[in-house]
Amino acid sequence: IKKIGVLTSGGDSPGMNAAIRAVIRTGIYYDLEMYGIYRGYEGMIQNDIKRLDSKHITHVLERGGTFLKSARSAEFRTPEGRKTAYENLKSHGIDALVVIGGDGSLTGAHLFYKEFGIPAIGLPGTIDNDLSGTDSTIGFDTACNTAIEAIDKIRDTATSHDRLFFVEVMGRDAGFIAINAGIGSAAAAILIPEKKMPIEHLVDKLRIRTKAKKASNIVIVAEGGKSGGATEIASLVEKHLPYYDIKVTILGHLQRGGSPSSYDRLLASKLGVAAVEGLLQGKYDVMAGLINNKVVYTPIKKAIVDDKSVDEDDFRVAKILST
Ligand code: ATP
Repeated sequence: IKKIGVLTSGGDSPGMNAAIRAVIRTGIYYDLEMYGIYRGYEGMIQNDIKRLDSKHITHVLERGGTFLKSARSAEFRTPEGRKTAYENLKSHGIDALVVIGGDGSLTGAHLFYKEFGIPAIGLPGTIDNDLSGTDSTIGFDTACNTAIEAIDKIRDTATSHDRLFFVEVMGRDAGFIAINAGIGSAAAAILIPEKKMPIEHLVDKLRIRTKAKKASNIVIVAEGGKSGGATEIASLVEKHLPYYDIKVTILGHLQRGGSPSSYDRLLASKLGVAAVEGLLQGKYDVMAGLINNKVVYTPIKKAIVDDKSVDEDDFRVAKILST
């Protein structure tokens, strides 16, 4: 392997820049030529590819977002699109790829490797934490910190006005951000897609807390819940508790932004090094992750399987602490 291309794809996450920087630096360390592919697979198809060296990665580690930009590419889902992408890579002599993104992006890398034999390694870049083969994905910790900071502020106003707030957090079909942010902000209840909570249970819980004269009530709702998001849940609860002053806040995309936390910087840096070293050691079609603080390479096919779910014990802790 002599020339490695790196790209970020799918939803952006804080720490992607730190990961790109680590990949480029490690490539330079091993005397490789490094290329940035802009706007994910879309840029691969449109030949938006540039040689990168150390001057391109000054002061990027601490910045949120991704300086390579990210995109979703419908064309890359077609065999023709992938063929064009392959030809563009060949024209630059790029003989290996590091793909930083979520399960969709890694699925693309797996397919591309199978079709064209381009060695590819994936890094888990998503705030959702919904990839197996790593304890945490790059951006998850920062997103939880951002959510907690926002919820702390909501609590101030909730307490001043005796309000009941429903706060919706991101996470797609996974409740990782919700459970972390919920425990970390002393939520009254946490609704996650993995565990259905009947609305009657939630209403009973809120009634008990009212009797106990709790100063404020904040319910965290994961966006991917089967009973709906915060707006839907709030209107269901309102029918049972009409005397409450209920408000809804959807945190939305602010959870994707911001400077990465120290944990995400460390994670992205370790995995960036692991990606390039993995490729040099012949580890292809795998995702580099960190489990118990050790780098682990998991076949992409296994990493993208939707079998990682919120720890039962986290759920138990949340329940005890919100009683
Ligand atoms: P996030 O979890 O933050 O949404 P993601 O990587 O899962 O990130 P997707 O939109 O699912 O985001 O995927 C990103 C891109 O990866 C897609 O736009 C597409 O170009 C490519 N991709 C996804 N799935 C496939 C597939 N089955 N075949 C080929 N390419 C794919």
